Amino acid sequence: MNRIALVAALSLAALPQSPALSKDTAGYQVKAADVLATEKALAGPEMRGRGSGTADEARAAAWVAAQFEKAGLSKAPGMAGYTQTAPLVRHTVAGIPTLTVGGAAVPGVSVLMTGGGRVGGKVGIMTDPAGAVPDADVIVYTGPADKLMQLRRVARGKTKLLLAAESDVTRRYLNMIGGKPQIRTTLEGAPERPSLAVAALPAEALARIAAGSEVTLDVPVATEKGVTTNAIGYLPGTDPKAGVILLSAHLDHLGVRPDGVVMPGANDDASGTVAVIELARSFAAMGPQKRGILFVAYGSEEIGGLGSTWFGERPPVPLSDLVANIEFEMIGAQDPKLPKGSLMMTGSERSNLFEMMKSQGALIAADPYPDQHFFERSDNYSLALKGIVAHTFSGWAVVPTYHQPTDTIENLDIDYMTNAIRSLIAPVRLLASGDFKPEWKAGGQPKP
Ligand SMILES: [Zn+2]
Repeated sequence: MNRIALVAALSLAALPQSPALSKDTAGYQVKAADVLATEKALAGPEMRGRGSGTADEARAAAWVAAQFEKAGLSKAPGMAGYTQTAPLVRHTVAGIPTLTVGGAAVPGVSVLMTGGGRVGGKVGIMTDPAGAVPDADVIVYTGPADKLMQLRRVARGKTKLLLAAESDVTRRYLNMIGGKPQIRTTLEGAPERPSLAVAALPAEALARIAAGSEVTLDVPVATEKGVTTNAIGYLPGTDPKAGVILLSAHLDHLGVRPDGVVMPGANDDASGTVAVIELARSFAAMGPQKRGILFVAYGSEEIGGLGSTWFGERPPVPLSDLVANIEFEMIGAQDPKLPKGSLMMTGSERSNLFEMMKSQGALIAADPYPDQHFFERSDNYSLALKGIVAHTFSGWAVVPTYHQPTDTIENLDIDYMTNAIRSLIAPVRLLASGDFKPEWKAGGQPKP
């Protein structure tokens, strides 16, 4: 037995037992038919893919809010209703992007993403995607095309403009985003963050750009105001000092692509929203626990976690009251690497929540992809950085239908979802009963 397993076994022995389910707690049963009905409501044609910050997203949020109200949840403290809206600033390309090298225009540039306006500076050349990012405002990347998107993540914040040769990778990406550059939508009043522009050039043109030359990219943009919507329901606790549990998912998806294709997002993340709604119904039927429970479906996750950021800045209860957050993200299909029936829990080794929930029958398993850093890549992370024990539960993080038009209800495993959600009721109930306080293990809490 290694040290981690030993610690796990010890903390397991000290765990309290779940209060026995009494008759009045059996008022609601999570059933496959309801899971499917909610999926149909969220991922069916009427919601048009719940595009971030669109009227479709607002309709989906209103629908989720209505389910919270119907289930018998209260409005969250200080809220006038079951939705919270956040003002957005949307940017659109308002002209033809131009690229100049040494003052001369270079034709054939296609911009994949941009913060808008003018960026540029001196060029550094990068060939090895795993190497150090050169200290330069503009990076000309000449390495393997399939590593470009990975490099983009590494380069963010270290350079302003990433130029690469046109390839199947860049063409596919452009096609996926509708042939127009991706521009970040921001929360109104959000501090300016450094953005990274990425553009592709014909290989011959790229090869002619020498290290040290001056490059500028101009992308004219226009701005318009928008709004995103979170749906929030609350089950007040009996002991205001015992804290609050946050159960969350994101209700938005990619909406309708510019080519007219609807992206249903049945798994991403209608499935997580289903989990939040089914748990809301279960706990509303049970009645108050010692701790309060917040049920939240965020808007605008797909364009940078905007709904959850807004919620984190204006939470209906002080963030310091939150004792745990479970985020549900794509629980509609099972990873073949996981034990049958299980969801994966990101960062399972970081806190004692995993052992507690597992001991109470939760169908969960450790994250089989620690090198992918999923713990850091979901909405739970911003809360974890603030010290709240926050994890994401997921079915198959690298599912083949990810961000594809094939992310449909037909490609979901409804029975798997139903059983997994059902298995979480007893553990969440113990969590809400207040006898167990989840804690980070030594070194488990992420540092900002
Ligand atoms: Zn997504």
